[in-house]
Formats: sequence, C-alpha cells, structure tokens
Amino acid sequence: MATTLPEVPVAASLRTAACALGAVVLAELSLTLLEALLVWAPLVALAGQSLRDSGETPRIVAVMLVLLVLTWARATDRMRPVLAARATKLRGLPLTAAAEEAAQRAMARTPLEMAGLRWVLWTALSVGVAWMLAARNLLAWPSAVGVACVGLLHAGGAAAIRALFWERLLDPVQATILPNLDPLRAFAVTYRRRLCLTAFALIGLGHAVSATLIAVFTELTSPQAGTLLALTVPALLVPMLLWYRSLARRTVPIERYFESAIKRPTSRGLARDDPQAVAAFRAAQSLPYRASIYQSLACSLAAVAVVAVGRRLTGFNTAIAGRLLGAIGLMVLASGLYETLLLRAVLRPLLGQLGSRHRLPVAEVRSALGLRRKLLLFFGGVIVLGSGLVLLFSLSPKHGPATMIGSTALALALALGLVVLIVRDLVSPIHALEERADEMARGELARPVPPSGEADEIGRLTFAFEEMRRALRDKLRSTESLNIDLEREVRRRTEVLEQRNAELHDALEKLRRAQDDLVRTEKLASMGRLVAGIAHEINNPVNAVINTLGPLQESIHQISGAQSPQQIASAVADAEEMLRVVQRGAARSKAIVQALHNYSRGDESVPRELNLGRSVDDTVDLLRHRLKNIRVEKEIDPGLRVFGFPGQIDQVLMNLVTNAAQAIGDREQGGTIRIGVHAVDDEAQISVADDGPGIPAEVLPRIFDPFFTTKDVGEGSGLGLSIVHGIIERHGGRIRAESHAGEGTVFRIWLPLRPASASSENRALPGK
Ligand code: ADP
Repeated sequence: MATTLPEVPVAASLRTAACALGAVVLAELSLTLLEALLVWAPLVALAGQSLRDSGETPRIVAVMLVLLVLTWARATDRMRPVLAARATKLRGLPLTAAAEEAAQRAMARTPLEMAGLRWVLWTALSVGVAWMLAARNLLAWPSAVGVACVGLLHAGGAAAIRALFWERLLDPVQATILPNLDPLRAFAVTYRRRLCLTAFALIGLGHAVSATLIAVFTELTSPQAGTLLALTVPALLVPMLLWYRSLARRTVPIERYFESAIKRPTSRGLARDDPQAVAAFRAAQSLPYRASIYQSLACSLAAVAVVAVGRRLTGFNTAIAGRLLGAIGLMVLASGLYETLLLRAVLRPLLGQLGSRHRLPVAEVRSALGLRRKLLLFFGGVIVLGSGLVLLFSLSPKHGPATMIGSTALALALALGLVVLIVRDLVSPIHALEERADEMARGELARPVPPSGEADEIGRLTFAFEEMRRALRDKLRSTESLNIDLEREVRRRTEVLEQRNAELHDALEKLRRAQDDLVRTEKLASMGRLVAGIAHEINNPVNAVINTLGPLQESIHQISGAQSPQQIASAVADAEEMLRVVQRGAARSKAIVQALHNYSRGDESVPRELNLGRSVDDTVDLLRHRLKNIRVEKEIDPGLRVFGFPGQIDQVLMNLVTNAAQAIGDREQGGTIRIGVHAVDDEAQISVADDGPGIPAEVLPRIFDPFFTTKDVGEGSGLGLSIVHGIIERHGGRIRAESHAGEGTVFRIWLPLRPASASSENRALPGK
C-alpha cells in the first residue's frame, strides 16, 4: 500500500539534509586544509628547495588530489546506509532491522576507517616524497627521515581530529536513527577511543606547533632539524605507551560500572546508592588531570632525551638547546592544559549520567581540586605560556615581519584557545543550571538536574539542586498521596453518611406511618365517642316521633269518627300539633345526620370555597350532647368564605369546641362558649373562647406539642391541638392561644381569604 506523506515534513527533511550536507562539505574542506598544513607545510619548510629542484611538485599534487577525491568517494559510499536510514527516519517511517544494523555499523566504523585511510595517504605522501628526494640525492638522509617522521606524526594528529570530528557529527544522526539507544551504552562503546584520539590529536598538533616555534626560536639547519624530528617519533612512542597503560588502568572502575549497569535493561534497575558508580565517578573525575600530568611529564623527559641525543649527533650550541627545551616545555604546558580541558569534555556526559542515575555522596566524590585552584592553575598556565613565549621571542634571532606576525598570531591563538575553553567550561554548567532552575521554578520537577561534571563548587551546587528537586518532588508526591487518602476517606465517610441517612429516612418513614396509625386509631376512638353521643342525641327526636305516632293515629280515628264540627276541629288541632312534633323530630334527626355526614366525609383533593358559618353550625350541632349546660354564643359573619379543605376546617372547630366544653366540664353553674367568625383586613379570624379554668402559664407553651395532655387516660390523647396547628399551617394561616389561669381561654385563628395561599396538600388529618 502506498504511503502518502505530508508535504511539510518532506520539505523540512530535505532542507535539513541540505544544511547538513553544506556543513559536511565545509568541514571536510577545512579538515583537508588542516591536513595539508600539518603535512605539506613542514615538508616545504624542510625540503622546499629540493622539491623545487626535483620539479615533481605538480605531479605529486595531482596524484594527491586524485587520491583525496577517491577517499571522499569511498567515504560517501560507506555512509550510504546512514544517509538512507536518516532520510527514512526524517520521513517518519519505521526502519527495518537490517537497515538499522547497517547504519549502526557504518556509523561505528566509517569515521575511524576514513581517518585511517587519510593517515596512510598523507604518511605515504611524506615517506614517498622523502624517499624520492633522498634517492635522487636532492635531500640528506637525516632530513628525509625527519620529513617522513613528521608526516607520520602530523598526519596521525590530523587523522585523529578527523575521526573525532566525524564522531561528533554522527552523534545527533545516531540519536535520530536510534532514538531508544541508552546514552550510557553509546558512551561506553566510544569513550576510550575518544580519549585516545584526543590525546593523539594533541600530540600531533603539539608537535606541529613546537616544530613551527622551534623554527622561529632557533637557527637549526635542515639536517639538524631533520635529525631532531626523526628522533621525536621513537621518543614519543614511550610516553604514548605509558599513557595508554595508565588510561587502561584508570578506566577500570568505569568499565566495571558499565559491566554491571549495562547488563540491566533499564535505568530503573539501577541501585541509587551504588559504590561502583561512586568509584566510576571518582575515576572519571580525576582521569583528565592525571592523564595530562603523566603525558606532560613523559613528553618532557622524551624531549630532554631528544635534545640531548640530537645535540650529540648534530652538535648545536647550548643556547639553541636551551631555547629548544624552553619552546618544548611551553608546548608541553599548553598541550597539558588543552588535554585536561578536552578530556574533561569527553568524560562530562559520563559524570552527568552517573549523577542523574545515582545518589552520589558529595563527601566521597568531592573533587580534590577546588574551583579556585583550577582557575589559578589554568589562568596561571596561560600567563606562564604567554610570558614564556615573549621571553623566547626576545631571546631568539631576528626574523622578518611576516614570520614574527605569523608566530605571534600562533602564540596568541594558542593562549586564546585555552582561555575560550576555560571560560566555556566554567560558564556552560552555570548556564545549564540556570535553565534547570528556571524550569524548576515553573514547577517542572520530573527531569533530574544533571551534574555539571566534576564535583567542584559548581558541581556540588548542581548536586544540592538535585537534592532539592528530589525533596520537592517527594514532598509534592506525598502531598498528592495525602490528598488521595483524604479524598478516599471523605468518599468513605460520605458513603457511611449516605447509608445512615437512608436508614434515618427509613426510620422516619416508619415513625411517620406509626404516627399516622396512632392518629387514625385516636380518630376512630374519638369518632366512637362522638357517635355514641350523637346516637343519644338522635334518640330524643326519634322517640318523640315514635311516641307521637300513636296519639296521632288516635287523633285521625277521632277525626273520622267525629260527630260534630267542634269535635272535628279539636281533633284536627291535636293532630296538627302532633304532626309538628313529628316534623320537628324528623328535622332535628335530619340536621344531626347531615352534620355527621358533613363531618365524616372524605376531603377533596383540591381546596374549595367553604362557608365558615355553616362549619360552625355543623360542629355545634354534632357536639350538642356535650354542650348540655353550656351556652353557645355565636357571632358569625354569615357570608364569610375561605378557600380550604372543609373537612379539615370542621375538624379544627370540632377540636377547639370539644376542648372548650371539656374545660368547662360538668360545672353546676355551666359556662359559655363564644364562637366568632369575622373578616379582619384580608383574613378571616375565627375565635373560640370559653370561661373555663384557663391554662396555667407553664403549660401554655406546650399545648401544641404532639401527645401533650393534662387529661386522664381515655379523655385526651394530646394530639388535638397539634393536628389543629398542622391544618392551620397547611392552610397558610396561624393560630394563637391566650389564657390566664382562672380566666378562661381564647384560641384565635387567622386564615387567608385568598385561595392562592391554601395548600393543595390533602393529607387525611384525623382528629378527636
Ligand atoms: P387533649 O385535649 O387530648 O388533651 P389537646 O392537644 O387538644 O389534647 O390539648 C392539649 C392540652 O391543652 C389539654 O390537655 C389541656 O390541658 C389544654 N387545653 C386545650 N384547650 C384548653 C382549654 N380551652 N382550656 C383549658 N385547657 C385547654
């Protein structure tokens, strides 16, 4: 299936590729220029005249150019898998295992292979030219050997620089192609090689600079210089071997650490407190200083030996020997300082990795050289170098302005290069720390603070920052986990509360049902009492009717058997009288039954207009049996109507009048109940007053409480007034009791005349 690629990434990747290509071409040209300078310049200096005499220069240059082009072609060919893999990755496509392996192999081999090829090429050029010139007797053999040795050494230095440059160039490419490659693993493969290449590049460059300065400071002849140069190569072999041995020994703790760390698949498997990491850190920290000190010492000894042997062989004077040793000494100092700085740069990523993967005890990894001493050492070295060069210039024979300008520029570049490296070494970790501190201030605490390198003052500052970051992160995590715990607890408590709430709700429901049952029972009981009273009340008119029926029948017989009109008139008058008694009895029975019917009817579901006067009449009618010796005075506004539930309003009146009647009780002298119904403003006011014993002040506040009663068992349940209160509230009204002991009691009720305020709720509210 064809994959369509978005336009922008392709264009962007092509642009990136073009930029990278431009940089590579430029760098390759610079490297070739450096090679030519390092190899061709001493050749011209030592055997310039002989070369011109031979007339071979154009042919040599042509052959060299062809060979150079061939090496470039080969390099391009070798880099093909890398370029292909990079292009694939930049397009966002996955890489096959074979392509990945080929790219990795090419990246690992090509820089060294190409550097080696160039070394061989330039060495072959020097050796070939020297051989050719000596064989044609155009050059003395010592000078020829010198030319060959210089070629070997300088081409070696240039090749080392080339290899380092290519490795550096390929680092980001490797990161693009193999994004998941463990940086520690990548470092472990290359770091020793990079240390050796750096040292070798410095030897080559140092030698080239020394040779240039020697040419300026001394008046050695070409054979003398050739002899010295020829002696240099075997003399340098010893310090180089010793240096390599020392490197192998000093990197043992680092190698041990790699062995244990790389075996574990992820950094998570690493122990934070690892003694091997501490040993590796200490070794990596001290290695640059020790390596450069050894190399400087060994090179100095080798230089002394070379000068001593050279003087014996070629016989130059002591002044020249002194200046020679001075120049070499200054170069050894300069290359020692450069070596320290450059080896530190090679090992810095390792120190960073160790610091971010492990908790390194500061006391154990503390650098022996403090920042102050380091700065004194480096800047002191630069000053010694500068002043030494000035001294040598003043002691050396006079040269033309071009040589003086050239050599001064070289000395200046040497010192400036050192200063730049020192300043960069000092500033870049502070800069990185500043950036990280900014990130931390913005709350980004996940990424560790990478150690700046050595555990000097700046390094220890990064350690302290890292400790601070960890502490902050842990605090934050513990606060978060505390929050989570709290949330969980709150959830748990809420669940418990909800459960309790549900239980309470159930209990309340049960209680309400129980209360309803109780109220209903109470109503049934009070209905029973009421009906008993009413049965008695109906008995009287019914008895009157029944007792009147016999005489009425007799009167009718008398009318039918009457002889005279007087007899008929008297019988008719009796019958009419009796009929009226029957009528009254029937009407009374009907009124009682009607009132009972009104009282016992079920309430409607919506409020309606009701006549308060009629409700009062019905209530008094039903309670007549209780009001035997009680005078009932009604002051009723006949047309007054309110909106509400008639059954409930009847019940209110029934409870209040019953209480009033019960309060007056069976007093000999009887009592009076005054019932008033009036309109006051936009409310209807109902008042039920009695002249009973009144309610004591301590009882008054409790009379509306459910189940509060002062009456005997069977006489009162304590629910009447609480039901009254509930009904009035539901009708949007209010009730108040006024009473003083011995002065009777007045209950006042206010009900709104407007229908809107009447509640639509119609719960059956049983009463007495
Ligand atoms: P109950 O009548 O069943 O006792 P109520 O709730 O109707 O219950 O009345 C509560 C109490 O209020 C009565 O027990 C009584 O002490 C007092 N009470 C109510 N009305 C009057 C009144 N008109 N005169 C004196 N006391 C009264």
